[in-house]
Amino acid sequence: MELLITIILFILVGSMVTLALCNRYLPKWFCDHIGWHLTPTTQDFDGCSLTGCCPRCGKSVLQDSQGNWF
Ligand SMILES: [Zn+2]
Repeated sequence: MELLITIILFILVGSMVTLALCNRYLPKWFCDHIGWHLTPTTQDFDGCSLTGCCPRCGKSVLQDSQGNWF
């Protein structure tokens, strides 16, 4: 039983680390062609929406209602 829990924990942690690494090191191609941008380190509010500057491609981005940056 303990072995099973250990295996499940390893899978969970492993998939989270993989997701985090993919999100961090996805190529700039995703910025240009799909529109996935990284969360800006500095964020402003222009009176209507959150704005920022994508740290990967340098483009100015907006946050949508789902919390994603485009
Ligand atoms: Zn970007």
